[in-house]
Amino acid sequence: MNLEALDKQYVLQTYARDYTNFVKGVGSKLYDENGKEYIDFGSGIAVNSVGYGNEKLVNAICEQARNIIHISNLQVIEPQAKLAEKMVKLSGYDMGVFFANSGAEANEGAIKIARKYGETKFEKKRYKVITLEHSFHGRTITTVKATGQEHFHVPCFSPYPEGFSYEKSIADVYNAIDDETVAVLIELVQGEGGVQPFEKAEIQQLAAHLKKEGILLIVDEVQTGVYRTGEFLASNLYEIEPDIVTLAKGLGGGVPIGAVMTKHKDVLKAGDHGSTFGGNYLSTTAGLAVLEILEEIYDKGQLAETLIYFEQKLQDVVGRYGVLFEKEVGLGLMRGLRAKSAEVQSQVIKQSMKEGLVVLKAGRNTVRFLPSLTITKDEIDEGFKRFEKVLASL
Ligand SMILES: *Cc1c(COP(=O)(O)O)cnc(C)c1O
Repeated sequence: MNLEALDKQYVLQTYARDYTNFVKGVGSKLYDENGKEYIDFGSGIAVNSVGYGNEKLVNAICEQARNIIHISNLQVIEPQAKLAEKMVKLSGYDMGVFFANSGAEANEGAIKIARKYGETKFEKKRYKVITLEHSFHGRTITTVKATGQEHFHVPCFSPYPEGFSYEKSIADVYNAIDDETVAVLIELVQGEGGVQPFEKAEIQQLAAHLKKEGILLIVDEVQTGVYRTGEFLASNLYEIEPDIVTLAKGLGGGVPIGAVMTKHKDVLKAGDHGSTFGGNYLSTTAGLAVLEILEEIYDKGQLAETLIYFEQKLQDVVGRYGVLFEKEVGLGLMRGLRAKSAEVQSQVIKQSMKEGLVVLKAGRNTVRFLPSLTITKDEIDEGFKRFEKVLASL
């Protein structure tokens, strides 16, 4: 049976899948079973933050796997403690960390912290969480309900948990707050919703207002975190101090890991929350290696150069192909081109694959770029050469 048939027979068909069979990756290049090369501008949806086959990451994982992959959270786990320390230091916030395995789980943890905070810190219980339209917070029953996109709230999965509402804009959040509101959950750059960043001033004003009202600000940095926007956290770039931050995608360089960080370190007590796999030896060793690699390219100024170079390339494209794209959007290495139509979006993505370039979709008309943070200038040049060939043919 060929691979496509095997997948279709035995794997639940929950994805609109492409059947290119990638067998090897080096840096930001992927190779399929026929040896065809692809430049990867998607990095597994912002996961492969240090590219493929990074020696330091691979060695750290292999060495750890030979010693201990997993024990349990009933035992102290050295790389877990060290990764938490690293994350707190890089963030600059006085926070504690809980480790999970995915973005949705990290957000579940954030919501649990917020709900308990709402139970214990106010005279009358507060439990409502306000989120934004076009947001994305995950696929569990709770986080899908926290996601402000109606088409995700499919009736067949109901009943959903109560206590979530969605606002059109940051400006609308102020009026939506009532005496049962415990938290506001936002992305600083809406990723899945179309690579849409919010204004810094608007976010700073909201953060100040929430602080004054005693309401928690939860920033979902599952996609924006781990240097994706050029700083360790997008919250650092926006110069705000959230109450809770969630991370996942880029943190393990491909090894599943999620994390919730909070300055309210006393809210969760022993037994309140847990995870069998969360923060095990393998994933936290990977996370530690990833952060060491990225901290180094950040300190050297290499990351800042890459962001500028990549954005310049996108601006050139918009300048030359105004017939296909309205504008360039995003921050750091989380970028998008707003296509003139959904048809252009899907054609560009499909033709790019044929030309040997992986790009992603976001929202209804955005072509999304989430390259690895270690991508080289040569790889960027080659990727855009292929991209222009695609655009010229449309
Ligand atoms: C991807 C994503 C999630 C969900 O992460 P999973 O690991 O798929 O559960 C949540 N929030 C944001 C902002 C994301 O981009």
